[in-house]
Amino acid sequence: MAVDRLLPTDEARDLIGLTRDVADKVLAPIVDEHEKTGTYPAGVFATLGEAGLLSLPYPEEWGGGGQPYEVYLQVLEEIAARWAAVAVAVSVHSLACHPLMTFGTEEQKQRWLPEMLGGATVGAYSLSEPQAGSDAAALVCKASTVDGGYRVTGSKAWITHGGIADFYNLFARTGEGSKGISCFLVPKDTAGLSFGKPEEKMGLHAVPTTSAYYDNAFVPAERRIGAEGQGLQIAFSALDSGRLGIAAVAVGLAQAALDEAVAYAQERTAFGRKIIDHQGLGFLLADMAAAVDSARATYLDAARRRDAGQPYSRNASVAKLVATDAAMKVTTDAVQVLGGYGYTRDFRVERYMREAKITQIFEGTNQIQRLVISRHLAG
Ligand SMILES: Cc1cc2nc3c(=O)[nH]c(=O)nc-3n(C[C@H](O)[C@H](O)[C@H](O)COP(=O)(O)OP(=O)(O)OC[C@H]3O[C@@H](n4cnc5c(N)ncnc54)[C@H](O)[C@@H]3O)c2cc1C
Repeated sequence: MAVDRLLPTDEARDLIGLTRDVADKVLAPIVDEHEKTGTYPAGVFATLGEAGLLSLPYPEEWGGGGQPYEVYLQVLEEIAARWAAVAVAVSVHSLACHPLMTFGTEEQKQRWLPEMLGGATVGAYSLSEPQAGSDAAALVCKASTVDGGYRVTGSKAWITHGGIADFYNLFARTGEGSKGISCFLVPKDTAGLSFGKPEEKMGLHAVPTTSAYYDNAFVPAERRIGAEGQGLQIAFSALDSGRLGIAAVAVGLAQAALDEAVAYAQERTAFGRKIIDHQGLGFLLADMAAAVDSARATYLDAARRRDAGQPYSRNASVAKLVATDAAMKVTTDAVQVLGGYGYTRDFRVERYMREAKITQIFEGTNQIQRLVISRHLAG
């Protein structure tokens, strides 16, 4: 059932309509096959780019959609309800455009931003390393100063869209400590850059996650974004926005699971009546609906603060925590509603449950969100 959304403008309503159309006609017919075979749907990203859905929250003057964040997130939610892997990749692309948009010079933006926001090139974000995920300041990949730029050596891990994306936000060490990290925009075809084979994941099979290996790779100085040593600040600033994207993806997944569970419960009978009419199950569905609605309200509140130019870092962490925990519970309960059938691959709730798990882990685990929130509380 389509979500009845409160949207700020007619343009936003049109965008949601367009997204539902693309989701129904382009995503829905192929999602099961791609998730089963683990094949990347390149054509889907071309379609989303052409439809202007890859850069909605960025200014129109740079090729973006000029939409408020609250609208972008609801578009993302609609995509996730059909295909979480694609929604995650769209969110990561948006995350990967953030450093250049926010910290790039006018010249850098003019050079690269229009193709990134226009969807001609797709981006990835590589902060994590094999030994440094939550503790990003412990990263060791090294960028040494040489004539005209930097030589990079080291490994990055867990890159969504790795090996496929055209450009990579690379966070590498140019000095000591947390203020010794810098941000670079690295093109895929850089000599000395190679990618590992895709990780064999629990879900999100259609979009690869890989390592990247830098072997004395030359990155010109003009590809450093922001000042030397500003990298971690840039990374965390992008993640505040990115976390809201993951919250929206989680709500899309939870909504899809709720819809399937309700539809099933209206058909299936036990003890002479529809299972939805057994109060024990009806109340389970009611709790699921309450969790989805409140998670959506939480991310929208954070997004509206962002749109109003107010601080929203704490709210983004609350939204990511609440929405992804809700998605895990709601998708698990959806499997319960379908009984034995829910545990098979014949029904999508099984996939939703596997996909919900990662939303509690990436872009800062939910323990790290609690750390951020508690630090805000401690002042
Ligand atoms: C499918 C997938 C896609 C990803 N995509 C990207 C990407 O595109 N770019 C990117 O840079 N990274 C990406 N990641 C990496 C992801 O962000 C990290 O896996 C995540 O941040 C956790 O880091 P870790 O795996 O090293 O776990 P660790 O940091 O080793 O944490 C292990 C456990 O310890 C807990 N823990 C750690 N520190 C604390 C603490 N201080 N207090 C309490 N508990 C703590 C964690 O919550 C976790 O439960 C991706 C990961 C996956 C699986």
